[in-house]
Amino acid sequence: MSRDWLSERLSDDLEAVRDAVSDVCEKFDLQYWLRIDETDAYPQEFVDELQAGGWLSMLIPEEYGGGGAELPEAAIMLETINRWGGVGGTIHAQLYTMGTILRFGSDEQKKKWLPQIAEGLRLQSMGVTEPDAGTDTTRIRTFAERRGDTYVVNGQKMWTSRVEQSDLLVLLCRTRKYEDVEKKTDGISVLLVDLREAVPSGQIKVEPIRVMSGHHTNQLTITNLEVPVENLIGEEGKGFRVIMSGLNAERILAASQYIGSGLYFIDRSVQYAKEREVFGRPIGMNQGIQFPLATAYANLRAASAIRWQAAQLFAEGNEGGTEANIAKLLSSKAQYEAANAAMDTFGGYGLAVEYGIESKFRQSRGPLIAPISTNLILAGIAHRELGLPKSF
Ligand SMILES: Cc1cc2nc3c(=O)[nH]c(=O)nc-3n(C[C@H](O)[C@H](O)[C@H](O)COP(=O)(O)OP(=O)(O)OC[C@H]3O[C@@H](n4cnc5c(N)ncnc54)[C@H](O)[C@@H]3O)c2cc1C
Repeated sequence: MSRDWLSERLSDDLEAVRDAVSDVCEKFDLQYWLRIDETDAYPQEFVDELQAGGWLSMLIPEEYGGGGAELPEAAIMLETINRWGGVGGTIHAQLYTMGTILRFGSDEQKKKWLPQIAEGLRLQSMGVTEPDAGTDTTRIRTFAERRGDTYVVNGQKMWTSRVEQSDLLVLLCRTRKYEDVEKKTDGISVLLVDLREAVPSGQIKVEPIRVMSGHHTNQLTITNLEVPVENLIGEEGKGFRVIMSGLNAERILAASQYIGSGLYFIDRSVQYAKEREVFGRPIGMNQGIQFPLATAYANLRAASAIRWQAAQLFAEGNEGGTEANIAKLLSSKAQYEAANAAMDTFGGYGLAVEYGIESKFRQSRGPLIAPISTNLILAGIAHRELGLPKSF
């Protein structure tokens, strides 16, 4: 990879972030990421380097020991990692999960946790989904019963990513049962769980789920987990909003990774299409090669434009949920389109692991489903923007 890539015009500040992150990424080449993919390992050396450079704490305000950056800077940082062939998804949650504490925590909670997280305490796990509550979050059953100064939690979580790479977990529970509340989003609460105690004591049993994309995710069985009441984030019973507000940042940062990976496919394909000769001329001369790449590139640029709009709205303190969801929708589709165009450009070599298209191709499918599916984003736009009847 070289830095001489196609790119949209960025502000000087964002350009500086892209350059500095590229310095880190340059040390972790294609072979490194292929090895990580093949062994299903966690890229700890890469993560350590980002932590040492202050990248993982960039969104924590300076008064708590972080970098005091805004979401657009984090967005270009993650885009850059993926553009270099890395996997920003291995660390993106460390950037935004702390936002739960930052936006909804008490002063004591912020003073206690944020400086530790800035120094490297790992909070990159969020337990929302359950076996019978995926898209329909309000159906969660994991229940936190208050006993004096402690919540006693029982239940199951599904798809809780990076538990083994986390010290803390943001856990969504019911404090009133689904059947006992009038509004289904009521009676849900957010707890901060210290995994360093909960896992060794057996209160949380962790079972890894093997998935196609090299993602580290797990099923959790929670048995009489004790959480101090002081670890309740936000108001009891009003946790749905706490979680949803954090998810907008997740969508924008995820979209940035998809844009980065989409551009990785374009960069690699353009270079290959110029070099590979078939019928005595470069394959890049053929419109059958050019047009799919040009279409994917145009769609990536469009996704990027609304991603910046969403990131700016978020940085200004607006919810920007629609823009964040549209950014996630368009970028995940454009990334997949670029992945397919890359496969067709590389021909048989696209399937050869060593060329670095195959692993990225696999990673490009999951984003159409998680963290939120294409269907659900469309259903949300149809209802909230277009005023059509609610289907979810
Ligand atoms: C690799 C991976 C990592 C994940 N990490 C986390 C994590 O860290 N924490 C966490 O809490 N969760 C995580 N998830 C869970 C993820 O958020 C859910 O998979 C997602 O919300 C969908 O839920 P589900 O898989 O149960 O699908 P379901 O809810 O069972 O839905 C199945 C399908 O039906 C469609 N569908 C449902 N209702 C409608 C409707 N009204 N209209 C149209 N289509 C509909 C959905 O779009 C989906 O395609 C992860 C998932 C994966 C795959």
